[in-house]
Amino acid sequence: MSTRNPRPVVTFPIVLRELTVLRVADVTPGMRRVTLGGPQLRAFHRDGLDLPALRTEGFDDHVKFFFAEGDEPPVLPGQNVSSLDWPVDARPLAKDYTPVRFDPGAGEIDFDFVRHEGGVASTWAQRVKPGEVTWIAGAEDVARSPRGRGLAAGRRRRDGAARDRPVAGGDARGHPGPGVHRGRRGEPPAGAGD
Ligand SMILES: Cc1cc2nc3c(=O)[nH]c(=O)nc-3n(C[C@H](O)[C@H](O)[C@H](O)COP(=O)(O)OP(=O)(O)OC[C@H]3O[C@@H](n4cnc5c(N)ncnc54)[C@H](O)[C@@H]3O)c2cc1C
Repeated sequence: MSTRNPRPVVTFPIVLRELTVLRVADVTPGMRRVTLGGPQLRAFHRDGLDLPALRTEGFDDHVKFFFAEGDEPPVLPGQNVSSLDWPVDARPLAKDYTPVRFDPGAGEIDFDFVRHEGGVASTWAQRVKPGEVTWIAGAEDVARSPRGRGLAAGRRRRDGAARDRPVAGGDARGHPGPGVHRGRRGEPPAGAGD
């Protein structure tokens, strides 16, 4: 781990969770927000295993969504104590998405899906309705934000020396990370805008 820009990493058990779509909303013409909820956001018991509540703390955390192909039900991985058991005979159709808001108290988690032509995930987000069920797994390796450093940090110090400058770039799919970094807790992180 770099001491110049340390991001403490914590590893959580990977848990497959069956959740329900609570809401869908278009946050921009090109981005649909899907809000999920359900008892499996909290600690729960399945197949003889006590599984922990979902945790997500890093601005660039991601989870895997599992999708159906055609009219078949989705192929889902099995659950071990702290990881998934990926089937060898049929590969799950899984795509990565970044939580943009997680409210454990309200039991809600939001994801923003870029709208684009084609693709099982984007098509699912365009068609899904409240009340439908979906499955996610993760987040696993969570890198917390470096203390006192936000994306906006990096201007010159009073003595004129340049600070380390975190730089983020990407297309619309990269929006959730920086957006969450500034907004997950409603306030920019300490150090942002210094
Ligand atoms: C760690 C991580 C986190 C991610 N978080 C998010 C997130 O929060 N939100 C999000 O929307 N995506 C996110 N992505 C990207 C997302 O996982 C991929 O874009 C995914 O492949 C989309 O799956 P799909 O089934 O919709 O389309 P695919 O099957 O991948 O692609 C189908 C077609 O759509 C095209 N296409 C794919 N993406 C776009 C696009 N953005 N614009 C235009 N055309 C496109 C492809 O070129 C292809 O022709 C993340 C990826 C990673 C690795």
